[in-house]
Amino acid sequence: MDHYGYVLDRALELNYEILPMSEAVRQSSKTLRPRSILLRHDVDVSLELAVKMANFESQRMIRATYFVRLHARYYDTEDTESKSAIDRLRQVAEVGLHYELGYYQMIGGDPLTLLNRDRERMSALLNSCSFGSAAHMPGMVGHLSEEETKAAGLTYEAYAPVFTRDRKYLSDSGARWREGCLCQWLDQADHFTVLVHPVWWLNWKEPSATVIERLASGD
Ligand SMILES: [Zn+2]
Ligand SMILES: [Zn+2]
Repeated sequence: MDHYGYVLDRALELNYEILPMSEAVRQSSKTLRPRSILLRHDVDVSLELAVKMANFESQRMIRATYFVRLHARYYDTEDTESKSAIDRLRQVAEVGLHYELGYYQMIGGDPLTLLNRDRERMSALLNSCSFGSAAHMPGMVGHLSEEETKAAGLTYEAYAPVFTRDRKYLSDSGARWREGCLCQWLDQADHFTVLVHPVWWLNWKEPSATVIERLASGD
């Protein structure tokens, strides 16, 4: 986490405003600061790690977006511990739905109907009906379009062009930055969308190869 802290501090020093995803939807490009980073986290493995990362960011007055799964085997959003983790997360960050097309394909049925059902479940968990979504494992199973997720009542889809084409998009998926860490990119673009997985940055009990394998199998 030392390096993560360094990257955030460096970005703030260079006058980047670090924002949750919904800010890009709420604000027009004119009212956004000249430099911005939309910071997104996928909670693939552990809500506890997500809370740790959110608290770490909150100490720097940073609010990011955390996308939470409803069909993980790694955690169960229905248990009391998870519910309290989600509540803690909501106090310092934004929370959205990390929808799982792989799960929808496995159980069969219309993905939009299943997504709509998950939106309702997430809405009950968050006590809010306004939140966005991000696809889980899009490299393996693809993602829905912005139009489709909006039709299912979600505010935005994190892989929409406004996030991934109109801004420099960087991700640490699979425990590595394909295009290099954000610290190497600062100053080279004014607007970023950055995806950081807490599991690669905080101590987790399993090696990353095991996590990657388990995620691919649907855990
Ligand atoms: Zn994911
Ligand atoms: Zn770096």
